[in-house]
Amino acid sequence: MNDYALRRTRLQAAMEANGVRSLLVSAPANRYYLSGFELHDTQCNESSGVLLIRLDGPEMLFTDARFAQTARECLGPDSVALYRRRKDLAAMLCDLGVTELWVEEDALCVREYRALAEKIPLHPAPPLVEGLRRIKSAEEIRLLRASAAVNHRVFARVTEMLRHGITEAELAWELERSFREAGAEALSFPTIVGFGPNGAKAHAIPGSQRLEPETPVLVDMGCRLQDYCSDQTRSFWFGSRPSPEFSRALNLVQEAQAAAIEAIAPGVPCAEVDRVAREFLARHGVAEHFTHSLGHGIGLETHEAPRLAAHDATILEPGMVVTVEPGLYFPWGGVRWEYMVVVTATGHEVL
Ligand code: ZN
Ligand code: ZN
Repeated sequence: MNDYALRRTRLQAAMEANGVRSLLVSAPANRYYLSGFELHDTQCNESSGVLLIRLDGPEMLFTDARFAQTARECLGPDSVALYRRRKDLAAMLCDLGVTELWVEEDALCVREYRALAEKIPLHPAPPLVEGLRRIKSAEEIRLLRASAAVNHRVFARVTEMLRHGITEAELAWELERSFREAGAEALSFPTIVGFGPNGAKAHAIPGSQRLEPETPVLVDMGCRLQDYCSDQTRSFWFGSRPSPEFSRALNLVQEAQAAAIEAIAPGVPCAEVDRVAREFLARHGVAEHFTHSLGHGIGLETHEAPRLAAHDATILEPGMVVTVEPGLYFPWGGVRWEYMVVVTATGHEVL
């Protein structure tokens, strides 16, 4: 049994336990996790295919002719059905005897939902595949470690790329090129580069701002290596006289991060790790400048379950991989520091 088949068997056990008899998997990363078929849809408004997992029948991948060959290689010819038009899917499901269907609410457009609902009673699916994906196998951890290693190598070169007059967009491009030259197949998300006040925008788009001496610089970047994402943030001071505000913020962020990482171990609630960082910053009077949650799971997607956030009741388990990224944002700029951390049997390890 290959990894994908093993995952499908595990999913069926979870479906059984949750009373889910037939699940239509349309989220690309979930589909890929279970079948090896197409990690990405061709475009955000165009699906590459959907996977049906049942308790009372074999899995079936529905796709169109463009993907027939790849689909058959992934799942075998008997488990692939081709539609000419996507709206034929509902009828094809009925022909297979599907009388009830659980669908992924985050990954189905309204038009498709309506077309299915006309013929089959639909239910919202609980996040069962996401639940499996939270725990990484040894092989997945190896791949995340390799992706993080490339990220470290590129970050090691950032200070030499910082030069007077370079724009944020130019720096972002140098970083992207470095990732590709280091073997990454893609970025895991568009690189964030913020000079000065732009560093306070959590998702700053690199622009035409030029780097002037004595300026804070925030870089948040990641790559995809053999499908697995990396994501790290560092803050720099371009110049020789970092402002006291910058130095203090950087110290506080790094200390908050260290305290939070120290708290990471099996059995600890995600919300508790977020609380450790937030309380540390509150004791130093800057909690209101920490405007986002502490971190997120990472794997086939840059942001996946669980979240290190006040609202996430997930209990940490060995094999989970999360980012820990406290940040402080002020009118003069932002400071954020981000590591990827794997939960081990006895505690944690920073990748
Ligand atoms: Zn990041
Ligand atoms: Zn992140």
